[in-house]
Amino acid sequence: MKFSKIISITLIIIMLLYIVLSSFEGLGNISYAGQNISIEEAERMAPGITSLVNNLRNAHPNYNFQFYNTGIDWNEAILREYQGHGASPKNLFNTSNSYSGMWYCPVCGTKNYDNGSLCCASMDALRYMMDPRNSITENSVFQFKSLEAPDVTYEDVVRVIAGTFLDHEECARAVVEASQKYNINGYYLVAKMLTEHGKNGSTLSNGVQVNGVTYYNFFNIGAYGNGVQAIITNGANYAASKGWNSKAASIIGGAEFAKSSYVGKGQNTCYYQKFNVVNTESGLFSHQYAQNILAAENEGSKLRANYIINGQVTGNHTFIIPLYSNMPQTAQARPSTATQNRISYETAVVTANGGLKVRSRQDINSAHIGSIPQNTGVKVLIRAASQNNGYYWDLVIADSSGLCGYVARNYIRKTGEGSNAGSSSPTEYVPSNPTPTPNPSNPTNPKPSTPTEVNETTLRIVNESLQVSANMTLADLKVKYPNAVVKDGNDKLGTCSKVTIDGKDYDVMKKGDVNGDGDVNILDTVAILNHIKETNKITNVAKLEAAKIKCEGSITVTDVVALLNYIKETTADLKIK
Ligand SMILES: [Zn+2]
Repeated sequence: MKFSKIISITLIIIMLLYIVLSSFEGLGNISYAGQNISIEEAERMAPGITSLVNNLRNAHPNYNFQFYNTGIDWNEAILREYQGHGASPKNLFNTSNSYSGMWYCPVCGTKNYDNGSLCCASMDALRYMMDPRNSITENSVFQFKSLEAPDVTYEDVVRVIAGTFLDHEECARAVVEASQKYNINGYYLVAKMLTEHGKNGSTLSNGVQVNGVTYYNFFNIGAYGNGVQAIITNGANYAASKGWNSKAASIIGGAEFAKSSYVGKGQNTCYYQKFNVVNTESGLFSHQYAQNILAAENEGSKLRANYIINGQVTGNHTFIIPLYSNMPQTAQARPSTATQNRISYETAVVTANGGLKVRSRQDINSAHIGSIPQNTGVKVLIRAASQNNGYYWDLVIADSSGLCGYVARNYIRKTGEGSNAGSSSPTEYVPSNPTPTPNPSNPTNPKPSTPTEVNETTLRIVNESLQVSANMTLADLKVKYPNAVVKDGNDKLGTCSKVTIDGKDYDVMKKGDVNGDGDVNILDTVAILNHIKETNKITNVAKLEAAKIKCEGSITVTDVVALLNYIKETTADLKIK
């Protein structure tokens, strides 16, 4: 009796959710063909760049510049970075006297993210930080330095780690070994570790015991979570899973991760690690090392400081300068701190039946970067003055997701006016230490998800099929297969996605992910119910397997109940057998 009641209530909830959520679509991805170009061509794309380069070359004749046309439209790059408002913005800054006013995103205003002093960055701030012409200077150019060369000797490393938590012979030798083994800049490795743990180190660099063995995680890999304790536990477990039971093992293992995940994937400068405009395999504009909009600049400065210590700043350095199509004639000026970033906007609601597609430019042929569900409120930031492809393309931000992009005006209905006062009282922020310690609630490290142990109940390869449990993520998979790559580029394991391991392709079956979007949620229960009711039969073999939650022969309502229990109990996993 109780059982059937639960099911009928559940069915009603599911049907309601189905109506609301059926408009969701996967994010579109567009591939860009980047290429190296001459300085003359770079000058045509970004006027003024030659004289900036020549200034530095005059002072440092051994500086070598490469110019790379990303193939990406400038405004599109800014838009793709200007995302996540209200939820988790891609670009944050620490408010201070130097960073206020026009640095604030006019939509988010002084809303704090994470720890109270981080705010969402404006488009002007993005234009300023991303335009290479603002950073081809003595102080900032090292954010473009190619990280693909070892570059350091043991003595060099000893000098730069003096007085830090890395000041041990074991660490210095490990940095040199790791840099040579993975052909990766040794100072960069040092800078990364100091960024993660501060000058004096922190819990994960001092070592944490797991099952009686002390493990180290010098790069904070896998160290994320809700609260300090969760961050430490996850980071320690990750280190244990990798066997990092010595400082040296952690340094060499961390370098391997940096190489296989970033430097070896085209993200071979500090700039590219912050603004991913090159690594299509891992997903452009995602797979970024930090939310801090100053991350590239800060890490480049640390790199340069190490060369200064060793008297090598004027040596042989290769800088890779990114360029975009349709860049402005002159670079964006530094956003004013005196002027407040205020905005008035219309509010509107999406009327499109089934959701409204959001595009990266005012063009029906531009990348489809997401959808806004019907009846969702939006803020209209810029109203189009003229039509393109028969539509007025207005720039909007969705209230629910913070998704920002262009939509056809026919499919939104005006509801009113709104405004944001911007930075009325920016909070003062004074760094207490020139080497910032990582903020536990906003770690800058890459985020492999909750570690799921790889064993026969969570991972199985059958011919061309890679079967994984519901909790398994790409990061977990990489524990066993470091070269594993998701081919569609969004780093998500989903049913019917393709994963390449050591050059061989596999079709993924993820238990519970029946609709193949990579997540296991209520939409998957809807898909199973539709299959049972025969309103939308599942025919795909992988999806059928994903729907067999109870791992029994046929798919029944007990699978739906089991899946609902899983969704509710986020701690358990859905095993593959
Ligand atoms: Zn914002």
